[in-house]
Amino acid sequence: MRVVVVGGGIGGLALGAGLRRRGFEVAVFERDTDVAATGGYHITLDERAQSALQGLVEPQIMQRLLASGSALRLRERDAFWDRRGRLLGHGPDLGDSGSIDVDRVTLRMLLAEAVGEDLHLGCSVSGVGLDDHGAPQVLFTDRAPVSADLVVGADGTHSVVARHLAGGPTNSPAGIIGFSGRTLLRDLGPGERQRLRPRSGLAVGPRGAALYLGFLDPVGNAALDAPELRMSVTTGPTYIWGAMFPESAATDSLRDLPCGELRDALLSRFRAHHWAEHTLEVIARADPDSVAAFRFNAASTRAADLAPWPAGRITALGDAVHATPPTAGMGAGAAIRDAADLLEHLSTVAAGTAVLTDAVDRFETGMRRRGSEVLTLAMKTVRWILATDTTLGAAATAASTPILAAAARLRH
Ligand SMILES: Cc1cc2nc3c(=O)[nH]c(=O)nc-3n(C[C@H](O)[C@H](O)[C@H](O)COP(=O)(O)OP(=O)(O)OC[C@H]3O[C@@H](n4cnc5c(N)ncnc54)[C@H](O)[C@@H]3O)c2cc1C
Repeated sequence: MRVVVVGGGIGGLALGAGLRRRGFEVAVFERDTDVAATGGYHITLDERAQSALQGLVEPQIMQRLLASGSALRLRERDAFWDRRGRLLGHGPDLGDSGSIDVDRVTLRMLLAEAVGEDLHLGCSVSGVGLDDHGAPQVLFTDRAPVSADLVVGADGTHSVVARHLAGGPTNSPAGIIGFSGRTLLRDLGPGERQRLRPRSGLAVGPRGAALYLGFLDPVGNAALDAPELRMSVTTGPTYIWGAMFPESAATDSLRDLPCGELRDALLSRFRAHHWAEHTLEVIARADPDSVAAFRFNAASTRAADLAPWPAGRITALGDAVHATPPTAGMGAGAAIRDAADLLEHLSTVAAGTAVLTDAVDRFETGMRRRGSEVLTLAMKTVRWILATDTTLGAAATAASTPILAAAARLRH
């Protein structure tokens, strides 16, 4: 069976690696020309995503991934703060967590290595359709079409393949603009180092302004203590921060600014929302070249709305079907689990115990459930942030945070 995968991001490469390992004929077409020259910060992989990956890649790739990952169990509990930096509470104990954070670049490079020469870079797909024999076909902007037994769209949020199948977009803006950057712990002053500590956290203020801090340290908190296998881009204790604002003409205009200017414009925006100056140090000390802006897109949280097409020989997975804002840290894991599940179903076809469209149908049923689950979690935070942007929500946030901060002080 010949499978063509459109998109060599996390889900497409994971599928390509698994298909190759099981002996399928596979080709992954990716428009980027270099897998390492990609955007992104860290990706969280929970135990389900890691176990899916184990079935897709060789053990030595998995070992290198774990040696490059930062273990959540070695981190302090997450913290919640208000805009003045006062502690409001903690998340659950992470001691039992099997999740890891890994640089997106590292994960993508390892998966690309697993796909090997079946990955074709610099290939931009312009559409999909059927060839003269009724087989699915992929069309390119600058090369001859390629036919296959199955085409899988793993081409992300603005998927050409899923749009073809659904007859229109599969997601829409979630109402939040995100801004991210990378700040080394050692670049912070002693006061903020002491307040933030080696943990992740979230600060929310009135009017939908929020600042997420993700702490990772693939060296000090390595998931697998094997420095000789480590290939993380992050080489010391680091905060990956994500600022969030409700979409508006003012926040939208920031998206067009170059990195250096973006950081300063972002600081001004937080100051206008009366955030305490010390809480903004993590943004002010960020590497200016690491700062980027992006729009959150989300598919429907209802399983029945996802992949709204009859099963056939063209399908899709990951963000192409269930575009998920990063607020639950589960989008990449869901794409990897899609890939593992599709591989299992295709293996039944190869073994002669199922026909292709039935296998795709069963895969799509599971993907709808999985996509709905992660979207529901991710949208909870999005809705909470957006709720603080109403007059009532802003007043409630302003009134309740001092009380929560006082209660947190009493508890400690
Ligand atoms: C640049 C970038 C940075 C990201 N950073 C983060 C992050 O820091 N943290 C986080 O949690 N999530 C991040 N994400 C999202 C996360 O990677 C996805 O949610 C998750 O991996 C789902 O995987 P996916 O394979 O469905 O989509 P993606 O990983 O987005 O992969 C889609 C791939 O398809 C390719 N593609 C798109 N259209 C075409 C086309 N027409 N022809 C050929 N190729 C095409 C894209 O170049 C991309 O490589 C990022 C995504 C991108 C694209």
